[in-house]
Amino acid sequence: TVPVLTIDGPSGSGKGTISRAVAQRLGWHYLDSGALYRAVGVAAGWADLDLDDAGALVRCTFDTTIGFDESGDELRVLVNGHDATDELRTETAGAAASAIAAIPEVRAALKDRQRAFRVEPGLVADGRDMGTVIFPDAGWKVFLTASAEERAERRYKQLKHKGVSVTMDGLLREILARDARDANRSVAPLRPAEDAVRIDTTGLGIDAVVERVLALLPA
Ligand code: C5P
Repeated sequence: TVPVLTIDGPSGSGKGTISRAVAQRLGWHYLDSGALYRAVGVAAGWADLDLDDAGALVRCTFDTTIGFDESGDELRVLVNGHDATDELRTETAGAAASAIAAIPEVRAALKDRQRAFRVEPGLVADGRDMGTVIFPDAGWKVFLTASAEERAERRYKQLKHKGVSVTMDGLLREILARDARDANRSVAPLRPAEDAVRIDTTGLGIDAVVERVLALLPA
């Protein structure tokens, strides 16, 4: 079977950055599972769907095509053929994704699309339930955490860099609200797999975390 390394954790834990770096070092494929939920969120927004209308959101999940373009230096995400990379990263898309991700039929509909990324020579899968639900048989599982303050600060720097004006207070509140929603929902609540290695990235640089993760795999 094709080897899989799962990297799960809350928003802002550094999953995306770490997963991409590890995938690059290993020469493996990379799955950004959050982008699938965000893509459905963006498509639902384009269609002006009500985030309380589960039936419409499930239909939207089946109808939305999501493509990844890895040819440039940045991963571009195509939703229904349109480049939605920047829109996907907004807090609006994140909040929509989090609401949509609480619908069991949506999660079920996205299962096979996620598993399809498991191709030779290997896969680094980044998300919330990669080690628990999507790839329970993964050879290596990591659960990344960081304090809420540090996660808000990372997000603040990212957004400031992009010229988006936000406040630390507002971001911290959004992160805590999303954490609570992701941890308390009845479907796939965020929790580490029993066999996951936990790494607290608070105060650690990207390279240090990447090395710790790579150290788990055979040389
Ligand atoms: O990781 P990211 O912030 O892009 O994910 C956006 C939202 O999608 C999360 O807040 C979470 O609710 C949902 N999600 C999920 N399962 C995943 C990935 C993301 O429920 N595997």
